[in-house]
Amino acid sequence: MHNFTPPCLDTTLRLDELGLTAIGQHHTSRHLTVLCLITDGNADCPECQAPGRVRSTRIRRLVHPPIGLTAVTLAIRIRTYACLSCDRRWSQSPSKAWWAARSFLGPHVCGL
Ligand SMILES: [Zn+2]
Repeated sequence: MHNFTPPCLDTTLRLDELGLTAIGQHHTSRHLTVLCLITDGNADCPECQAPGRVRSTRIRRLVHPPIGLTAVTLAIRIRTYACLSCDRRWSQSPSKAWWAARSFLGPHVCGL
């Protein structure tokens, strides 16, 4: 007999290998959009290592291979931080997700 676990987009779409975690989904009849956060983001200031404060967010999209007849897009929420100590501003880098996606999803993966 199989050991079933609760459904999990992180496992089904291999998001954990991309350094991402799903926080929401929008599903129409032929298209699934998964809202993701970067899990390994370091929020410390690269200049003085003080903790950064989230200043804003933006969305970058990554096309994921389809599941059956359903197209899948990852909408990755990227945080921009500000340092309260030295006023430096920086953003999370989704580069790990892009490189990991190319390595296990293939060259047809592309950002939008
Ligand atoms: Zn700083």
